[in-house]
Amino acid sequence: MGKNLMKSPKTQNKMNREDFPILTQQVYNRPLVYLDNAATTQKPQVVIDALQHYYETINSNIHRGVHYLSQLATNEFEAARRCVQQFINAAHDYEIIFTRGATEAINLVAASFGRTYIQRGDEIIISEMEHHSNIVPWQFLCEDRGAVLRVIPISDEGMLDMEAYTELFTEKTKIVAVSHVSNTLGTINDVAEIVRIAHGHGVPVMLDGAQAVAHEPVDVQALDCDFYCFSGHKMYAPMGVGVMYGKERWLNEMKPYQGGGEMISSVTFEKTTYNDLPFKFEAGTPAVGDVIGLRIAIEYMQSIGVERIRDYETELLHYGMERLSQIEGIRFIGTAPHKAAVISFLLGSSHPYDVGVLLDHQGVAVRTGHHCTQPIMSHYGIPGTARASLALYSSKEDIDRLAEALLKAKSMLL
Ligand code: PMP
Repeated sequence: MGKNLMKSPKTQNKMNREDFPILTQQVYNRPLVYLDNAATTQKPQVVIDALQHYYETINSNIHRGVHYLSQLATNEFEAARRCVQQFINAAHDYEIIFTRGATEAINLVAASFGRTYIQRGDEIIISEMEHHSNIVPWQFLCEDRGAVLRVIPISDEGMLDMEAYTELFTEKTKIVAVSHVSNTLGTINDVAEIVRIAHGHGVPVMLDGAQAVAHEPVDVQALDCDFYCFSGHKMYAPMGVGVMYGKERWLNEMKPYQGGGEMISSVTFEKTTYNDLPFKFEAGTPAVGDVIGLRIAIEYMQSIGVERIRDYETELLHYGMERLSQIEGIRFIGTAPHKAAVISFLLGSSHPYDVGVLLDHQGVAVRTGHHCTQPIMSHYGIPGTARASLALYSSKEDIDRLAEALLKAKSMLL
């Protein structure tokens, strides 16, 4: 025991679309072009195999079991925690808290940080480009505590107005919560600078990394952020697992999020004391198999190299922007110079939903709508966008198919 039982992926030096069985499918008699990766990525065979292997050979509840399988499952679960620690370069494995996803991770930070530190009149800085997951939990907190939200505006290119940001700080500012990469605009924010400015005011920063971790190398110590949240399912891992990284000093002081089994040290009706990190924040039975799948997904990305994935996707993004800009009437939403592989656009005066349906019928899957970022839509005065988002298995052929399908859609709509 103690050895990893799950098979790690072999090193490979290129993007292997064949590793993803779902992509070999046809939809409407056309080979599937999957360009909805910002919503969720597909899973490589090694991750699918890991889940099956887990349920066939290891499945058991963790941490409290004396028996053989429980110890195996516990070892694998804790190995996954160390893998995530190393992946984002956290200082300690107990700073990695497993959650159900980025949404739960952000709710955890807002609720626990809020219960511990936020008082009436305190201020919380977020931005105009946040996903609803990084707006609503802070609004809950503001309602509960009588705190106030302050919002960093964005430019028409889709970049944070850093000057306005610096001016938002007051004595009352208690935390900054912004996205690393925007799911709608693709903008990669200068999060190191955001942290530096906030720390200059003695204010901690939470980064929403849901759209960053699969596309950019992340080093939480280099960024010096206080919290970093992300979802497994957007980085080739199963749905139902995510991560909240927090610096030890905050996690030690913060009140727990949910109450239940595992997070306690002792319980009486008079008084309950809490477990040590990380368990204080992990009430109840976690998604053990999915956490193990997350480890395999990380190892899969590492077997290619996260920098290599980033460079490949950036090249593809440029190809895509170039190729689509040749279509007359296309309007890009989000044109920051430093962008991840997300292309949001409008086609003439047509509704993005109609564009999405016509692309779908040609086998091209994109997302349409407000992408859970209604304030961005208000900024541009639009109902939504069509969004093509790339992953490591995307190709120039996918972009070409998208462009051809768009031309056809245009001929039907405009
Ligand atoms: N933040 C951002 C930037 C996102 O794109 C998403 C998912 N679209 C989330 C948070 C929430 O992630 P999840 O739904 O996996 O909890």
